[in-house]
Amino acid sequence: MRTDFELTWGQGAEFGHIAFRDGRAEWHAVLNLPAGTRFADPLADLRRRFHTWHDPIPALLDATRPAAVLHHDVNELRTPLPSSTVGRIALLGDAAHAMPPHLGQGACHALEDAITLAAALATEPTVEAALARYDAERRPRSQAVARAARQAGRMGRQLSHPLAVTLRNTAMRLTPSRAAARMILRHHAWVPPQLP
Ligand SMILES: Cc1cc2nc3c(=O)[nH]c(=O)nc-3n(C[C@H](O)[C@H](O)[C@H](O)COP(=O)(O)OP(=O)(O)OC[C@H]3O[C@@H](n4cnc5c(N)ncnc54)[C@H](O)[C@@H]3O)c2cc1C
Repeated sequence: MRTDFELTWGQGAEFGHIAFRDGRAEWHAVLNLPAGTRFADPLADLRRRFHTWHDPIPALLDATRPAAVLHHDVNELRTPLPSSTVGRIALLGDAAHAMPPHLGQGACHALEDAITLAAALATEPTVEAALARYDAERRPRSQAVARAARQAGRMGRQLSHPLAVTLRNTAMRLTPSRAAARMILRHHAWVPPQLP
């Protein structure tokens, strides 16, 4: 199914949405707020904050049912784990490398972890050898992408000082769209291992 994805950075805020070809859409909004902040009516709060943003952001919020909104703090594993395995236990996905959502890579890496672990278990002679290979193949890449996601968040959603936001927006306007796309897509290139 083809999709269209759009991400907008503002002052201490980010809004992203995916429009699916079957007419459905999903969106996320990320805000700079103290941990644990909660609103009686999160959708009403978002409508108020984003009503001046470009189309189709206000329309997407207007079309959303209040019960469909999930509101969570964004947590991440700031200190990279020295290993994603202990004995015969392996951590996958966010348990191994919870990253902020700014590159849209968290779930992708959970899938990469899963197939890498399956391939290692299917080909190595022991579970211990398979887990050692899984850790060696996955941890450097997922931790590097987690670092890049954090940097993208710092440059994007987290900037709130008006001068810094103006400088960022000017730099983004001057960056050729191909170069910007390359910056984001460089993390996407990954060749899955062959399963026997
Ligand atoms: C706003 C936002 C946008 C995102 N956008 C993207 C994107 O575009 N692309 C992308 O690839 N990623 C994206 N992500 C990241 C993605 O959602 C996560 O990386 C992914 O869900 C991690 O999957 P997981 O299975 O490792 O963990 P989870 O999705 O957290 O699954 C773990 C599950 O285990 C359950 N659980 C926990 N403890 C127990 C227990 N003791 N017993 C039983 N069950 C338990 C939990 O309830 C949960 O259901 C986004 C994240 C956010 C917050």
